[in-house]
Amino acid sequence: MTEPRWRAVPDASPHQSPAWPVVSSTTGAVADPRQAWDPAALLPPGDAPLPTGPARYEFGPFTPTPLAQITAPPSGAWGPPTTWAPPTTAPVRTKRRPVVVALVILLAVIIAGAGTLVLVNKLSGEIGYQNDGYSAPPIDTSPPEVDGPDTESEAYQTIRNNALYGQTIPQPIKCDVPTVANAAAMSAADLKSWFEEASACLMTVWHTPVETAGFQLYRAGVTTYGKELDGTACGDLGVNAAFCGADQQFYWSTQLLPLLADRDAALLTADSMVLLEILAHEFGHAVQYRAGIAQSVSGLRGLLGKDTEAGKEVNRRLEMQADCFAGMFLRAVTKSLDISDAQLQMIKTAVHASGDTRASGDHGQPTNRLSWFQTGLDSMSISACNTFTAPKQKVQ
Ligand SMILES: [Zn+2]
Repeated sequence: MTEPRWRAVPDASPHQSPAWPVVSSTTGAVADPRQAWDPAALLPPGDAPLPTGPARYEFGPFTPTPLAQITAPPSGAWGPPTTWAPPTTAPVRTKRRPVVVALVILLAVIIAGAGTLVLVNKLSGEIGYQNDGYSAPPIDTSPPEVDGPDTESEAYQTIRNNALYGQTIPQPIKCDVPTVANAAAMSAADLKSWFEEASACLMTVWHTPVETAGFQLYRAGVTTYGKELDGTACGDLGVNAAFCGADQQFYWSTQLLPLLADRDAALLTADSMVLLEILAHEFGHAVQYRAGIAQSVSGLRGLLGKDTEAGKEVNRRLEMQADCFAGMFLRAVTKSLDISDAQLQMIKTAVHASGDTRASGDHGQPTNRLSWFQTGLDSMSISACNTFTAPKQKVQ
């Protein structure tokens, strides 16, 4: 057996704009005849070795940018966040009757000698944040490589039954994110500096579930640029935000928000919270990469055929899982960042504006992207974001 192993760092040469790079066919793999995502039809999965897949995991389907095809949703079309509620696991103390308050204070005084800071915090009405004592590691521009799956069957196993799905997102999490009033007008330098601070917040939320699941997380850096950036480890980049599997770093165009604002003018007034959603989506791709999910999807897309409906569908499942992860992250930090309803609505506008504008794209229809984002907002269990076992209609 001389099965070529999955390479975590593919050749840079195949990665050319536009859109997804052509999959290298070093394995001689042919497109899988199964064109539908039908779990029954996929069992037992084959042992075909996975080809090297595209290694770039972007925010939106923006290359090329068919702005003329966009039909902006009517304002408020997807409604206010009716099911949104602050995290319920750490209730804020409400008013008590004086006698009860007195008893509680007395108890506090008794326990204070041997008591804990956590208890004192709770009695004084503060939130029981789940990240006391954690501080994010510094930016890591050369993280350890990660082994992805070698075969088709391993890939299906990885995406459907990943150890990550057994974890929950700790919440609430306390962290800080620099405030930006006009996100669409940021310079590359400002965007980089904002990112490098904000990424600590992502680490704080994700490190426990990722590492408990047996994977290793790290804090990736970012390269920011204007309209295009040529010659990266993932090829030439256009206006987008991306996690690049080849060097496990982020790339982010300052023109992404102006582009989204072309799709929905409300985004011209977007602030740091929309940036945070975009970062959370891309960080979701980094989590998927560390867990082997991203490489599995790239390889399967190579087997299924990059531009076949089945190939695009498996990629949509990856993308909408990242949307779901972004929702989970935002739920975890909404209390400490004091995210308002108006900000949440703006975030949802951005998620919607990042959807596919064609009937069969590789990122997901606007309403489906928003639906998965909402699923993340509504849940702490990572299994809720298992898009790989979801019905087909939810991943169009
Ligand atoms: Zn993406």
